[in-house]
Amino acid sequence: MLSSSTSTLRLHQPTRPHRRHSPAPASPRLPSPVASPRRWAAPLRARSHRIRALDAAQPFDYESRVAGILEERQRLKIAIVGFGNFGQFLARTFARQGHTLLAHSRTDHSALAATLGASFFSDPHDLCECHPDVVLLATSILSAEAVLRSLPVHRLRRNTLFVDVLSVKEFPKNLLLSSLPADFDVICTHPMFGPESARDGWDGLPFVFDKVRVGDCPARRARAEAFLNIFEREGCRMVEMCCAEHDAHAAETQFLTHSVGRMLAMLELRSTPINTKGYETLLRLVDNTCSDSFDLYNGLFMYNKNSTELLNRLEWAMDSVKKRLFDGLHDVLRKQLFEGSPHAPNTSNVRK
Ligand code: NAP
Repeated sequence: MLSSSTSTLRLHQPTRPHRRHSPAPASPRLPSPVASPRRWAAPLRARSHRIRALDAAQPFDYESRVAGILEERQRLKIAIVGFGNFGQFLARTFARQGHTLLAHSRTDHSALAATLGASFFSDPHDLCECHPDVVLLATSILSAEAVLRSLPVHRLRRNTLFVDVLSVKEFPKNLLLSSLPADFDVICTHPMFGPESARDGWDGLPFVFDKVRVGDCPARRARAEAFLNIFEREGCRMVEMCCAEHDAHAAETQFLTHSVGRMLAMLELRSTPINTKGYETLLRLVDNTCSDSFDLYNGLFMYNKNSTELLNRLEWAMDSVKKRLFDGLHDVLRKQLFEGSPHAPNTSNVRK
């Protein structure tokens, strides 16, 4: 049985590590890493958090050895498909956490991948033959379908976990469900931050996810948790939300923010010697939104059905504000033109 996608919003509180000072048992029985076929074969997240916080000054004691084994079980082999701006940004944190990284992209990013300790594959067949635990789709929204269809998924291990990080969610959910074999697990995610907004870390930043299809067996659930734990460990605010609900909110938040940023950029605003705080916020908004590719913004429009309505509302809002100003101006002009004149029309009905 597969766990179904949820329509409710649930906040996952990060499990914070705390110190524990229990004495080691007389004859410790360590869990064997070979007892299970996969490193992440058991759901050990909460325990590993507690044990990880033990005093590093006692490297040979029982608990630190267990912690090391549990840490090892949390490690994943992650293949990032679409190794551009955002894929590389995520890879830095994945590498720091000790995961094994593979990468594939249209452009040859092998030199950059090497600096992160990642193996770069120009040929997707070679990537898939490495049998990653997780394939992370981080390509542009516009190219996602073509890129996914170019992957020889039959070369992957059966029930590989596919995760996407596209900034819209219903589209990749439907795409992954319709393109991948039914044995594959699917988690749709949206880290609501990027290289600019999260340059100082991910702590407190929202990470939206929908466990669209995770097979009901301990190993597959543990693998899904091990992946989500990457973001939890960085302190992200974990928000479980269905894809449709994400897209409704994202039109209001993300697409609106990017649209306003792009419109302000058209004005070519410059810093002045008398900037107010509000004006500086606008300048920062231009920087934050225009540092993303236009493809990304275009994808937010093309692949979120709520975006057209948002654009129409934005236009209506601008017209309403303008109308209020011009109505007031017309009142003043009419008074100046006609009041006191013998031919003056009756202006008593004109809205003040
Ligand atoms: P992007 O412009 O949306 O995507 C760039 C990536 O897409 C690059 O890897 C690029 O390949 C690949 N690509 C573009 N057109 C392609 C095509 N025709 N064929 C094959 N590959 C193509 O910029 P991004 O910022 O890196 O975003 C990547 C994904 O993450 C997007 O889906 C975006 O919505 C999502 N995301 C971004 C942010 C952010 O802050 N930037 C935050 C959350 C989620 P090359 O390697 O050849 O350049």
